[in-house]
Amino acid sequence: MKRVINNFLNQYKEVYDDKLYYDVRMDIKSNGDLNQYYEKIKNCLNCSLGHKRNNFVFGVGNPNAEIVFVGEAPGKNEDLKGEPFVGRGGKLLDKILEAIKLSRKEVYILNVLKCRPPDNRDPSSSEIDECEPYLKEQLKIIKPKLIVALGRISAMTLLKKKDSLGDFRNKIHKYENIDLLVTYHPAALLRNPNFKKPTWEDFKYIKKNYIDGR
Ligand code: URA
Repeated sequence: MKRVINNFLNQYKEVYDDKLYYDVRMDIKSNGDLNQYYEKIKNCLNCSLGHKRNNFVFGVGNPNAEIVFVGEAPGKNEDLKGEPFVGRGGKLLDKILEAIKLSRKEVYILNVLKCRPPDNRDPSSSEIDECEPYLKEQLKIIKPKLIVALGRISAMTLLKKKDSLGDFRNKIHKYENIDLLVTYHPAALLRNPNFKKPTWEDFKYIKKNYIDGR
């Protein structure tokens, strides 16, 4: 028996060094307070991404925001800083927000996944299944008037539909009775500047219908 335990611990040490992880499912429910919710879930190890992260990227902004932006997953910069959208795509998102007279302090920005997938690959469906309850609970706490899904993965996760980005755009969808609009992911704008014009149209729509005249 002692040998079996020793073997297990040696194998464990090879994989996880000296860190001791225990597999406890997170209780996903919140008490309605976003900061306390962060404290509750920040040590999540429900999927393998948790073992490799530098930071659990919970979200940033105003807990009472009327508009919430939902991205896909943290990249390298976000993992290092613990904040969503702080790389090149994030700078572009900041600029677009500024153009409609918003800052990241006024809105709330978060991702479907809270931990970085290796090499910035797409999130797997099991990773999304593990992490999505946190997103749902965050949206329940914030209760925004509008959710903006940045890119197809965010839209598919929230709307439970596999459409193209083109089919998702130009419609007001509903997520738990909250208006939801889909636009291009900032990284897509960096890859293809042709997407900038339609994105700008989406943001002008947001300004006109959800910001002006508040
Ligand atoms: N891409 C995302 O979807 N989210 C981030 O936070 C950064 C890059």
